This record gives sequence, structure tokens and C-alpha cells, in this order.
Amino acid sequence: MNDSQLLRYSRHILLDALGVEGQQRILNGRVLIVGAGGLGSPAALYLTAAGVGQITLADDDTVDLTNLQRQILHRDSRIGVNKALSGQIALAEINPEVRVVPLAERLDAARLAELAAEADLVLDCTDNFATRHAINRACVAQKKPLVSGAAIRFDGQVSVYALHQKNAPCYHCLFPEAAEVEETRCATLGVFAPLTGIIGSMQATEALKLLAGIGETLNGRLLLIDSLDMQWRSVRFKRDPDCAVCSAGPAA
Ligand SMILES: [Zn+2]
Repeated sequence: MNDSQLLRYSRHILLDALGVEGQQRILNGRVLIVGAGGLGSPAALYLTAAGVGQITLADDDTVDLTNLQRQILHRDSRIGVNKALSGQIALAEINPEVRVVPLAERLDAARLAELAAEADLVLDCTDNFATRHAINRACVAQKKPLVSGAAIRFDGQVSVYALHQKNAPCYHCLFPEAAEVEETRCATLGVFAPLTGIIGSMQATEALKLLAGIGETLNGRLLLIDSLDMQWRSVRFKRDPDCAVCSAGPAA
């Protein structure tokens, strides 16, 4: 680290658990963020401010007036601009040292696998189950930690799938794809603005801990918040030995 970096990250370096070594690991880190909306905004802002070496930010959507109530990466002046590109502009203003790679594309399975392989960890900041399961499959295949968040109405949840470790449960263990799950979207049900900030910031928290190799993550725990009554719940869960995605299968 040069003198400027020692100053920029001094409040991290002062933390006993983190220190120069932890900050250096963050500086060397490469993160894939899928989705530059309500969750991806605060996550990307904090990861950039904290000095993550490379952030790949993927979103094929464009900034819309209805996004600005919560998607704090974007600005009124960038309505109509691709969200990944709009995000890159905002992030460069905070910390030009971070290499931000904007991807204005919808990631298919092959692309997700390729990008997960290049990253140290993946943040799922999307809003639909099909993409969440595709990201999970890529992270299971590439053995990369997945930091997953969701927010709808006043309800949020966040967890970590430590897929770089043996016997860690995956997203599919907790939310099997076959299960009848009602797709809930902000566009129809609404979402409380700062709730996305809370959940996205927690995703950034867990991502930085994973990069720095400190603390205990939400691996095996789903944290749920009801922000209307401000109640938190923590639910423990285990790997499903019959999981169609992460189990070794009968041949193994
Ligand atoms: Zn699984």
C-alpha cells in the first residue's frame, strides 16, 4: 500500500481484526455483483469505498424513474442509461482505484460460470428466482462463496452460502427450485427504500469479511428482517444431502 492508500483505508487498518493484512486481501479481491438495483447499489458503493480490487457489475436493465426511490447508485440525470454503466460512473467518483467492469448484459449459465470462476465471491443482488438459481449453480460448480440478499415490501433476508467450504449448504438446499414459490417483485408489491440499503449493506459486510478472512459469516444461517415492526430473526439450516444442485450424486 502506498501513503495515499494507508490514509484512505486507515479506519479499516485501525481495526484489530482487519489491519493492514486484511485490507491488503480486500485490495486483492475480485467480486462479481449480479444486479445493480436496490441491493446492488449499496453493496457496490461500500465494496468500492472499502477498496475491493475489482468489481464486475452486471445488469442489462436501464435506469428508470421508479428506481430512484431506492437504487442509490443512480441519478436523475442518468435515467435511460444502462444500470451497470451508471453504476460505474458513481463508483469511479468514490474510489478511482477500484477497477469496475460494467457488463450491460443478462448473464446466461455459461457466462455466469465463466465470471464466477474469475471472482473470489459472488453477490446475488437480483430479484427473480430463475436468476438466483442460475447464480447458485454457477457458484456451486466453481466452489465460490455466494452472498445472497432479497428485499420485498418491508421484508428482507440475507445469507451466505460458503460453497468454497466442504458441506456448506447451497441456495437450492434452502429454497428448492421445484417448490411452489410465488414470484414477488418490487414492481407489483413495492419495497421500502432503506430496507434495500440494510440488506445490500449486510451483503457488503459479509463480502468484505470473506475477502479479508475475518469473523464468522452467515454460512448456514438465514437472517430475516421485518422492517415495519423492526424485528430480526435468525434461522439455521443445513445442507440437504439429496440436493439436486450440490449433492455429489449417487455415483460419487
Ligand atoms: Zn444444495
